[in-house]
Amino acid sequence: MVKSISILGCTGSIGRQTIAAAEHIGMPVAALTANKKIGMLEEQARRLRPEFVAVYDEEAAKQFKIAVADTGIRVGSGMEGLIEAACMDGADCVVTAVSGSVGLKPTLAAIDAGKRIALANKETLVCAGDIVMARAAEKGAEIVPVDSEHSAIFQCLMGRGRGELKKILLTGSGGPFRGRPRAELEDVTPEQAVKHPNWSMGAKISVDSATMMNKGLEFIEAMHLFGVTPDDIQVVIHPQSVIHSMVELVDGTVIAQLGVPDMGLPIQLALTYPERVPSMFGRLDFTKLKDLSFEAPDLEKTPCLGLAMDCARTGGTAPCVMSAANEVAVGMFLRHALGYNRIYDAAAGAVAKLGSVRDPDLETILAADSAARAYVMENFGK
Ligand code: MG
Repeated sequence: MVKSISILGCTGSIGRQTIAAAEHIGMPVAALTANKKIGMLEEQARRLRPEFVAVYDEEAAKQFKIAVADTGIRVGSGMEGLIEAACMDGADCVVTAVSGSVGLKPTLAAIDAGKRIALANKETLVCAGDIVMARAAEKGAEIVPVDSEHSAIFQCLMGRGRGELKKILLTGSGGPFRGRPRAELEDVTPEQAVKHPNWSMGAKISVDSATMMNKGLEFIEAMHLFGVTPDDIQVVIHPQSVIHSMVELVDGTVIAQLGVPDMGLPIQLALTYPERVPSMFGRLDFTKLKDLSFEAPDLEKTPCLGLAMDCARTGGTAPCVMSAANEVAVGMFLRHALGYNRIYDAAAGAVAKLGSVRDPDLETILAADSAARAYVMENFGK
């Protein structure tokens, strides 16, 4: 079990649940970072008393510094602040719960500092999986996934040699619009799209779950985390979200991880791994479980998943371009500035326009990320 943690992105859904898990198991918090929700951040900081807090937004950081002047908490800002929080001497684990590619540099810095990464920021692996995984192997930094599917796969593979794995069965609920054709979804509102049937999550990831871009990002994330090819991963729709993912072994045995659909469970495990401790979450009652059903994804109805699988095969900067374009498009959709079906058009358009650069270094990846954002703002912004 780790001794102390830094939480990057503490005011988001995963960040808040990480704080709840840390308080439940009595784990100290050395550093917190947030973008600009300084009201909530101040309340968290006063309660947890971290040594250091970074606010990404410079203006909000100035206000926050004044607000907590009486506490003795050091305050930083910008990317520099996020990186300092990721490298704190006092923390041996960094929970990367920021949304989007802003998590990339702090994650690499934490790996260089030898921290365990409790990885909740999937964009980091989607954009720079080759670089991040190679760096982690070189520095001996552990990466423990927080995403429920990847935590499930990680758990199914515990104690197993890589040669035993035949394929990964990546499950997904199908989201709130499962089975509905695209033509019917033209006028979907943000309020409808963020209502996930099983999971309580932040707005961006809830929209990604509705379009199934989330499953596509997870597909790419799984390739990097577990060192497999696209052909080794099968997406299975499982609407009840009781099985969180499975692995098929070479002899045909399938091992699944089951539990109540609560992100608190994989978060707690990432902090206590390889130990397990009692949690505050509900238990499965098999006598009350109705059918567990499974189906193949329909890529015509959810083209974002097909696009992501194509980008996974293309490799290079294609996944980063797709993810960055999607991030901007989802932001526009949430502000009622873009139609629901245009999210796919924006992501696919960016990939078609910008193509892919092979074996990119970090600068090339960040440039592709910026180009994708600019493409969507120019071509889809009002
Ligand atoms: Mg997930």
